[in-house]
Formats: sequence, C-alpha cells, structure tokens
Amino acid sequence: MIRASVVIIGGGVIGASIAWHLAQLGWKDILILDQGERPGEGSTGRATGGFRASYGSAINVRLSLLARERLRRFAEDTGGTCGFQPVGYLWLAANSAERDELRAGLELQHREGLGESCEVTADQCRALVPALAAERLVGGVWSPTDGYIRPMGILAGYLSAATREGVEVRWRTRVEGLERDSAGRIAAVHTNTGPISADHVVNAAGAWAGQVAATAGLDVPVTPLRRQIVPTAPTSALPPGTPMTLFAGDGFHFRVRDDHVLLAWPTPGAADDPWSVTVEPGWVEQVTAMAHQRVPALRAVPVRGDAAWGGLYEVSPDKHAVLGVHPDCENFFLANGSSGHGVMHSPALGALLAEIMTHGEARSLDASPLRPSRFAENDLIPGSALL
Ligand SMILES: Cc1cc2nc3c(=O)[nH]c(=O)nc-3n(C[C@H](O)[C@H](O)[C@H](O)COP(=O)(O)OP(=O)(O)OC[C@H]3O[C@@H](n4cnc5c(N)ncnc54)[C@H](O)[C@@H]3O)c2cc1C
Repeated sequence: MIRASVVIIGGGVIGASIAWHLAQLGWKDILILDQGERPGEGSTGRATGGFRASYGSAINVRLSLLARERLRRFAEDTGGTCGFQPVGYLWLAANSAERDELRAGLELQHREGLGESCEVTADQCRALVPALAAERLVGGVWSPTDGYIRPMGILAGYLSAATREGVEVRWRTRVEGLERDSAGRIAAVHTNTGPISADHVVNAAGAWAGQVAATAGLDVPVTPLRRQIVPTAPTSALPPGTPMTLFAGDGFHFRVRDDHVLLAWPTPGAADDPWSVTVEPGWVEQVTAMAHQRVPALRAVPVRGDAAWGGLYEVSPDKHAVLGVHPDCENFFLANGSSGHGVMHSPALGALLAEIMTHGEARSLDASPLRPSRFAENDLIPGSALL
C-alpha cells in the first residue's frame, strides 16, 4: 500500500495553501488527492475574487488581516500572482436600520485593527461610485484596503510552490472511504485508484467535507449552498478601479472584472437539490432588474445569461471556518466551512492549520474560536458573515 505522512483531501485553494505551509514547516511526504481533472473544479474556480477585512465578527477580521499580510508578499513567498488589488469595498445602507448594523460592524473592525474603514454619507458613496442611482441611499461604510484577488492565481501559486517543495498532487483521485483503526485513528484513505495509508489526514474537501468525513462515521457540519453569478457583456460603463459595491439590505453586489461587470445576489439554494449549481433564468432576470434600477449606466449593457455560472458555498452552522483537529479523531484535521470566504482566508487558514499540526496550537493568531468542538460545546461564533 502507498504510504504518506500527510494526505490532504482536496486540491482547492485551502488544501493547496495547507500543503505549502506544511512544507515550509519542514513536513515531508505530503500527498494531495483531488477528484477533479485539473485545478479549480471545486468552488475555488467559481469564486468572484472579493477580498475584505470588513466583517462583523472579530475572528473573521483577524483572519483577513493575517491573510492580507500574506497576500502582500505572495509573489515573494510562492512566485505566483494573487492579483491583490485594494480598490475598496463600499457597503451601502438604504435605511437607518441597515446603517446601524454597518456602524456596529465598523466599531468591531476598528477594535480589531482595521482602522481605515469609515462611515460615509450618501453623497460620498456616489462620489466613490458615481454610477449609483441617486435614490435609496442613506449612507454606508467604506473600507479602502479591501478589494479584489485572483482565486485561480492563488491556487496556482500555492500548488506550484508546494510541488517545488516536494508535495505530490494526484488529480482524478476520488476519496471513497476513510478507514479507522481500533484506536479510532484514520489508518487508510480508500480511493478509486487504491488505498493509501496515512499518519495524518486533512479534510480540505470544501462543500464536500461533510460527505468525506461521513465515510469514517465522523460528523463535519458543512452543507452546500448555491451561489449564482452573471456577467455583463464587455463594457466600459464602470471604470476598472470601481470598488466592490454591496447593498447591505439584500446582499446584491457588483464588481468590475476585466472588461465586464459581475452581478451577484444571494438567494436560497435550489429547493429540490442542495448540490445543484444550475443557474435559474428567473434569477438572471431578477438580478438584471436590480442592476438596472441601482446602476442606471448598466441599462444599456447586455447581460450574458449564457455565461452565468453557479457554485457552492461550504456553510457551517455559524457561517465561520472550522479549523483544527476533529474532536473524535486525533489524526483527522479540518479546514472547512469558510462559508463563502475561503479564497480570501486561504493564506491564513493554511498557515494556521500547519501550525496546529506542527505545534499543537496556532501561533500566528488565536484560532481557538474556530475549533471544531465548538458545535458540540454550543459555543457558536456570533455575527453572521454570509454573503
Ligand atoms: C459563486 C461563488 C463566489 C465566491 N466568491 C468568493 C469571493 O469573492 N471570495 C472568497 O474568498 N470566496 C468566495 N467564494 C467561496 C470560495 O470559493 C470557497 O470558500 C473556497 O473556494 C473554498 O476552498 P476549498 O479549497 O475549501 O474548496 P474547493 O475549491 O471546492 O476545493 C475542494 C476540492 O475537494 C475536492 N474533493 C471533494 N470531494 C472529494 C473527494 N471525495 N475526493 C477527492 N477530492 C474531493 C474537489 O474536487 C475540490 O477541488 C465563492 C464561492 C462561490 C460558489
């Protein structure tokens, strides 16, 4: 039987980051397994590429600040291109209740070290994004150091740097079962190409993390949630440096990527099939109508329904990452449940999990709020972070 010191299940951005960070800490015999034909077939290849530290929970602000530090030196560390572009996030409030919620988040962000985020008036919002319709706004929050990243650039950067350090990556290798020994440890990983024995197993299977863990009779509370994106036709209606612009009330948001605008609006997943990533034509119509009402300059720009795509968020019960050793299995490590923020947090989550596996605890920051045992302890993280 093939043997590895560490088997990482999932070669998305989080698995790749963990592999590279482990190699940096001196780990050898690391094997990444992924069922896809090539990198990016999971959620990483479907992400829009937003990066923010403007969150409403302390741990997410801290993860983002750690990730940002690492993204700024990404080329130096990995030789790759993360495309970090701090063009800002502009959060818009249409009424005083939404503004109060944004203000509460702002206070927390300042406490956690994101000093540059600030409240802005409705006029200032329109100065930042002149294409916004005049009506509806009472103000907002501006976070100038948030912005955009390139998900596939980060994935490629970590994968190639890890490979240079000796990490092996096997595509088209589906994990079908985890075998536990009499002590409850995972002894072997069964795949469609044969079994692999492992000292340590990392679950980095994104939206599929719960399914993978269930093969060992272990609970990882992560469920899939569909998100849909539709691009416009190429346009110069919004300039390239336009910030990510989000309506706090209903989550409608847009960004400029390359020469087109991406439109997004979170709605519940498909009622009949939680794994469906099919884009609904009715959704495209609704999001287009919202864009036309809120950004009149887009009325003249066709929306490319044929190029729309769907993908899966990996949602945990409190919508925060699940990081650390599984409470019921001492050699099974989790980096799951980022709930739609996994690309931006991947540099931090990879570093922290590598520290936990090496030292028994995270060193770069206190990651204990993310511990997998918090669900059984009924100590969930307050402050929703889903968008
Ligand atoms: C539409 C959309 C927009 C998003 N926008 C953003 C954004 O702007 N910013 C942001 O930070 N995040 C965003 N996200 C979330 C982000 O994509 C995820 O949080 C992130 O990609 C999770 O990374 P991952 O490596 O855990 O998962 P994945 O990239 O899904 O990787 C998991 C891998 O596991 C593999 N796998 C699964 N099961 C098995 C198995 N049994 N055997 C072998 N391999 C297996 C899969 O093939 C996959 O490659 C978005 C997501 C979607 C869907």
